[in-house]
Amino acid sequence: MDEIRITDLTVFANHGVLPEETALGQKFLVSLVLRRPLRRAALNGELSGTVNYAEACAFTSQFLRENTFALIESAAEALAAALLERYDIESAAVELKKPWAPVGLPLECVSVRIERSWHTAYIALGSNLGDREAYLRGAVDALAAAEGCRVGKVSSFIVTPPYGGVEQGDFLNGCLELRTRLEPGELLGLLHSIEAAAGRERLVHWGPRTLDLDIIFYDSLVLDSGELTIPHPDMANRRFVLAPLAEIAPYLRHPLTGRTVQEMLHTVEGSARGPSCAWMHSAAQGPRE
Ligand code: ATP
Ligand code: CA
Ligand code: CA
Repeated sequence: MDEIRITDLTVFANHGVLPEETALGQKFLVSLVLRRPLRRAALNGELSGTVNYAEACAFTSQFLRENTFALIESAAEALAAALLERYDIESAAVELKKPWAPVGLPLECVSVRIERSWHTAYIALGSNLGDREAYLRGAVDALAAAEGCRVGKVSSFIVTPPYGGVEQGDFLNGCLELRTRLEPGELLGLLHSIEAAAGRERLVHWGPRTLDLDIIFYDSLVLDSGELTIPHPDMANRRFVLAPLAEIAPYLRHPLTGRTVQEMLHTVEGSARGPSCAWMHSAAQGPRE
């Protein structure tokens, strides 16, 4: 990806753990790498298609002077978040150098460098208790209002029969696209807090619930940490996930199988109609991989 680089912008600010650092202040050098496509701006000569680096320097300098952090790690983290929110960029790398770090030994500088990005996640929503539509709409609104999250496409909500053998009412299901600065574990924590605020109780596995929010995809990440599995391990078998997901992202590919959402949906719909229909479906489509 194209990038705009700003190197060693000097800022006098008050970050540090020691009282004299916050009281007296010291010199910091900040370097930025801001990633976004630049071809259109390059060909059209339009400043609106890029980042105004003079403005970005002024913003960075002011941000580091007006906010005080004990750790340069925290200063870099907060600055990266502020840059991602303010500019139309995919990622921001921030390096913060402290040439006068009070170490008591000669050194050139101490520094931290971090890189933070926007990610695209797909979230499945489900409810089968109370005012199901209000719970799903409430979840969309809560995600749109959450720090570091932007809701993109939202599918329609469809009524689906319960899954997993527990006797219970029909579900209302949907999917949405989420642009987020949160890491996967943080996103799961946010989903749990939105579920809890909707009165979600975990009494029976796959039992009735006011609100269920699952992470289906997170970029093309493959993760199995025990607490969190991405892509969702059962998504390819669930029409109630694939049908709404196919409305908003039909050509998205599963990072492990390489199959598109639309292909996975055709497979579950074919098997739901019985083996003969599944056979007719694949025969009509010709050989598959
Ligand atoms: P299923 O995950 O089969 O749809 P469920 O949604 O009913 O079942 P929950 O009780 O909501 O299950 O979640 C149980 C745990 O699943 C969560 O606490 C979470 O740690 C874990 N989990 C693992 N992978 C995911 C994921 N991709 N999205 C959401 N939760 C996940
Ligand atoms: Ca679920
Ligand atoms: Ca869940």
